[in-house]
Amino acid sequence: METNEKENWNRRLSAGVQAIPPSGIRKFFDIAAQMEDVISLGVGEPDFVTPWPIREACVYGLEQGYTSYTANRGLIELRQEIANLYHNQYQVDYDPAAEILTTVGVSEAMDLAMRALLKPGDEVLIPEPCYVSYAACTTLAGGVPVPVPAKLENEFRIQPEELEEKLTPKTKILLIGYPNNPTGAIMTRDDLLGIADFAEKHDLIVISDEIYGALTYGGEKHVCFSSLPGMKDRTILLNGFSKAYAMTGWRIGYALGNPTFIAAMNKIHQYTMLCAPVTAQLGAIEALRHCEKPMKKMVREYDRRRRLIYDGLTKMGLPCFEPKGAFYIFPDITPTGYTSDEFANALLKTEHVAVIPGNAFGACGEGHVRCSYATSIDKISEALTRIEHFLTHHKKK
Ligand code: PLP
Repeated sequence: METNEKENWNRRLSAGVQAIPPSGIRKFFDIAAQMEDVISLGVGEPDFVTPWPIREACVYGLEQGYTSYTANRGLIELRQEIANLYHNQYQVDYDPAAEILTTVGVSEAMDLAMRALLKPGDEVLIPEPCYVSYAACTTLAGGVPVPVPAKLENEFRIQPEELEEKLTPKTKILLIGYPNNPTGAIMTRDDLLGIADFAEKHDLIVISDEIYGALTYGGEKHVCFSSLPGMKDRTILLNGFSKAYAMTGWRIGYALGNPTFIAAMNKIHQYTMLCAPVTAQLGAIEALRHCEKPMKKMVREYDRRRRLIYDGLTKMGLPCFEPKGAFYIFPDITPTGYTSDEFANALLKTEHVAVIPGNAFGACGEGHVRCSYATSIDKISEALTRIEHFLTHHKKK
């Protein structure tokens, strides 16, 4: 398309779309996809196939003819299982009829939460580095993302004072995502109690993306934000099946919250999505009823890989925060003299190893790259050999 013609069409796009950049992650995958022999530490998805009982439940459901729409909020059996999970695991009770909405992944739930709550110009505090969608969803819903850099010296755990500094009369939402993508940071119960006080004091709504809640290591236990005293009603908790159950392609997640917020989100969901895919809902029921064991087995395997990659990167001189959750590690590449973009590009070009530049997750991610260890031990070992070779032979002049 001619430049003039492109500009002509561009002008007609919505302000929100014009305001957001393309995902820094996708841009990189597209380059890597065209190369041969690439080891990808770039993708944020499990290399495991969904456990068989989940796939079987889906096949069986199809055989039985489960092919139609479900209730907008999802099958009541699924919502009941989700309620049971939160009751048993975190001692927080959600009413399956009014406080649970099944969605097309956490992605849809995030979009719904933002669209249901934000008025033009409302500000959203977003600790960074963070998942690439947070700021984009805020902007698309008419809000203003306000990044709050989390510091490596605090193990990327956000502090109330740091949030306080960015507070204005327009601040409406605090959006947190722990265990964190891309750093692997988690928040302790005490950390979160501090955040809860802050949210209460300033009457903020908290969106808590807990999609990696099942993936913690070294004896660390995930703390569910809405289970903290006084937090349930002001929190929209997002979770899903993509990561813990290796179900990224199924597109199934959920939102938990007070009946007013969930009804508002459902209002948008019923016009734009109708319901989450029925087969995915059947698979999700099976996951919650019978698949804790295979899920825990995958978590143990991520832990093994985590230790390998942490030791490997640290030994070759790249300082790393030891990740405590999710399946990412976020080494500091400043000793190499490269910027994040330069490092990722040069590593891909010379050694065919794909990592994501840290600045894709917010400006404060500069000086880091994100490596995903949701890939096999063999591939991680080979990637480490190649990275070491890169560090020895491609020193920045
Ligand atoms: N939230 C975080 C922190 C993620 O890392 C991702 C995917 O990478 C998502 C949400 C999207 O999850 P889903 O597949 O449920 O839409």
